[in-house]
Amino acid sequence: MKLLRDFFRQQVPKTNGEIITYYQQSMELNERLFGLYILLSFLLLSVTLKRFFWMPILALGAVLIKHAYRRKISIRVNLFLHALIVLIWSGWYVKTFGWGQGGQHMLIVLVLLSFFSVYEPPLVKMVYFFGVLAARMALHGYAAASSPVVEILPQQSFWLQLLNSVTMLVLLAGCSIIYSSNLQETERKLLLHNEQLQHQAETDPLTKLFNRRYMMSEMKRFVQENPSEMYCVAIADIDFFKRVNDTYGHNCGDYVLCQLAALFMQKSVGQYSVARWGGEEFCFFIPGKNVDDGGAIITDVCTAVKRMKFEFEEHCFAITLTAGVEESDYRSTLPELIERADHKLYMGKKNGRDQVVI
Ligand code: GH3
Ligand code: MG
Ligand code: MG
Repeated sequence: MKLLRDFFRQQVPKTNGEIITYYQQSMELNERLFGLYILLSFLLLSVTLKRFFWMPILALGAVLIKHAYRRKISIRVNLFLHALIVLIWSGWYVKTFGWGQGGQHMLIVLVLLSFFSVYEPPLVKMVYFFGVLAARMALHGYAAASSPVVEILPQQSFWLQLLNSVTMLVLLAGCSIIYSSNLQETERKLLLHNEQLQHQAETDPLTKLFNRRYMMSEMKRFVQENPSEMYCVAIADIDFFKRVNDTYGHNCGDYVLCQLAALFMQKSVGQYSVARWGGEEFCFFIPGKNVDDGGAIITDVCTAVKRMKFEFEEHCFAITLTAGVEESDYRSTLPELIERADHKLYMGKKNGRDQVVI
């Protein structure tokens, strides 16, 4: 009993009270086209056979009622009711007109609909699949064992078969188009979102420089891929940055960090990679250079910083950097080199700041 209750109370994600999935769209398209098909069948049967049939009227009524209440019932119940209507319709069609008119084609669409319902577990989909298979086999067996209620002439059969085949193919194509285009759109959004996430994971939000984690992995990658190549690591720190914050405000401190980052990026081309290492510390990775050449590059950067005029609100001021530079020695690990560059930076601070220690 609980199993049955859970089955009918299927929960699916909703947004603004509306089910936003492609599935709802394909189900609605399916309902509308199926309703139209029943109407056309009614007209065709009336015209070709010159007889009135109650079943199309009842089926159309059922489809319309279900369509009107489609938003109030769960996807699972909707599919279940739809399957029931299609099953009764196909059964009536085959019983009345025989197997040769293609009324059983509508069952095939049910398999597609049940498999496209992503919120169904595979087991439920398999139940639908075997249910449809069993219904089709049973209908086939029934049709083989008994003759149709209404005798159909070949000319009439042609039109009935045509309507049933075309409807089935249109329904299959319509559902597939909705499904595949939605899948593509979802995939596109996912890729875009992943790119954004990756960018966020690699960069510092304030300065837009690489962050420490990304820089560390890039340096490690370089060392692994170029084990015999020389490189330098430098750590630079703004002198008396706390004073900038205390004197001109935290926003001014942020502005200085951004201006510095822009300068570092501008000078980096073909020379080094740079990252925000910590609060007001930056790490430079200089591939292919020894400590003298690497030191010269960092000295050039520090000189440019010293010459910069920072203008924030009514304030105008300058800052200096202290940096420590270390070169690879083929023995030490990357963290050891960084540690030594950091130590040189510390020595520079102790020695009066505004200098590059090589
Ligand atoms: P030193 O020359 O010894 O490096 O002195 P300092 O004042 O630069 O160093 P200290 O470590 O005393 O202070 C660093 C300051 O950097 C303190 C902290 O508020 C500031 N800071 C760190 N990150 C940010 C940030 O993102 N924005 C701003 N505005 N300030 C920051
Ligand atoms: Mg500092
Ligand atoms: Mg510091």
